[in-house]
Order: sequence, then C-alpha cells, then structure tokens
Amino acid sequence: MNIRQAIADATTRLSQTSGSARLDAEILLAHVLGCDRSHFIAWPDKQLETDQLEQFESLLEKRINGSPIAYLTGSREFWSLDMAVSEDTLIPRPETETLVEYVLEHFPADLSFKLLDAGTGSGAIAVAIASERPGWKLVASDIDLASVQLAQRNAGKHGIGNITFLQSDWFDNIEQKDFDIIISNPPYIAEQDPHLSRGDVRFEPRRALTSGTHGMDAIEHLCQHAAKHLKPGGRLIVEHGYDQADSVYE
Ligand code: GLN
Repeated sequence: MNIRQAIADATTRLSQTSGSARLDAEILLAHVLGCDRSHFIAWPDKQLETDQLEQFESLLEKRINGSPIAYLTGSREFWSLDMAVSEDTLIPRPETETLVEYVLEHFPADLSFKLLDAGTGSGAIAVAIASERPGWKLVASDIDLASVQLAQRNAGKHGIGNITFLQSDWFDNIEQKDFDIIISNPPYIAEQDPHLSRGDVRFEPRRALTSGTHGMDAIEHLCQHAAKHLKPGGRLIVEHGYDQADSVYE
C-alpha cells in the first residue's frame, strides 16, 4: 500500500467518528513515518513498509475509538511551542493562550516579575511565559508528580532555565510569599457536566477537569489562599468556564 492509498483508506474509516478525518489520518501517518505532512504531497506513491502499516493501523484503531490525537502522537502545539503531552495531563488548549497573552500585555519584559503557575500540568502556561520573559523567576507546581516531570521535560526541550518545579497540592508546599502573579488554568468543570462524556475530555484525567458540584472548588481555593502568597497589589489570574464569570468575581 502506498501513502495515497493509506491516507484515503484511513480517512474513510475515521470519518465515522472524527470531524477532521483526513487531517487526523495525515497527522498519524506523519507521526509513524517521522516526517512532515508536506512529505505526502511530494511522495504520494511511496510504498509503506509492513511495520509502518502495523503501527499506523494501531494508532488508527485508537483514534476511531476516540483517543485524542495529542495522546497518540505525544505532542501538542501551544504558543507555537511543541509541547510533550501524556495521559497524565490535560491537553493544552488554544483558549489558554489568552492567559499568556494577558500576562505579556500587562507585565513588561524590562521589569523582573515573580510568577507562580499553579496546576501547571504539561507546563504549557509556565513554559510559554518563560520563553517570552527569560528575565523573570517562575515557579510551576502540580499535585501530580508525573505532570511535574513532564513540565520539567518541556522546559528542558525549549531551553528554559528560569522555572523552578515543585510537587504541591495547590499552595501546600509553596513557601514563597512574594509573587507578583499567580496564574492558573484550574479544573473548573462541574462533576456532572454532560461535556465530560464527549470528545477528547473522555480520555483526560478527571482531576485536571472537574472540581466539585459547580466546578468552583479549585477556583474558590485559589481565591482564598492566593493573597498569602502575593505581594500587595499582586494579581491572581485564572481561566474559568464560559458561565462562571459572575461566580468568580463574587
Ligand atoms: N495548566 C495546564 C494547562 O493549561 C493544565 C491545566 C489543568 O490540568 N487543568 O494546560
């Protein structure tokens, strides 16, 4: 089977369950071949080896069963950086780049700020900000050790040396009390939210997604404890659900 046939066949099979069947097929095949998708345009007639086809088939079956592409390839782009991801962490979302943008807009590069990314997961937020603000001192924490290690790996991958990593249940192991910024994309989905049984989120860790009956437990905890770790006038910046703005302000 050649590249063109493999992609066409996979696209047909994926279209039953995925809204982006052709793209999924191309991304998975590119991952197996260790090449860029543009390779397929240049070499559509290239024959695939048996082991390549087997590997492709195995990924395809997982994708047909709903596995997120990012978990199958082990990476996702965030802030134009290639971030390693694993099933231990949430897959970074483009919406979360809004938090990074906000920080860069409001806190200039020529001043040195101290920032904590609480619940860093893959390290997406901390690594993105550190890549833009090499002079700042960042701390990134997560309750889950595998996530802390993954975040560390992502920092290393992008040559970032100004983040200290800590395993901590929110502020439990954070002694520092002089942050200018505490930032977090905490879990904020209500435990019974029907979205949890759809799409990629079915495969993501529950602890990274849900937080109590109204999804507000983690945000409440951050609001109650952040001040003790912030300088006077410091900022707490959190992502929250589309319908939670009023509760969060309150
Ligand atoms: N901070 C990480 C992210 O934005 C993880 C967030 C989470 O697990 N809730 O991707």
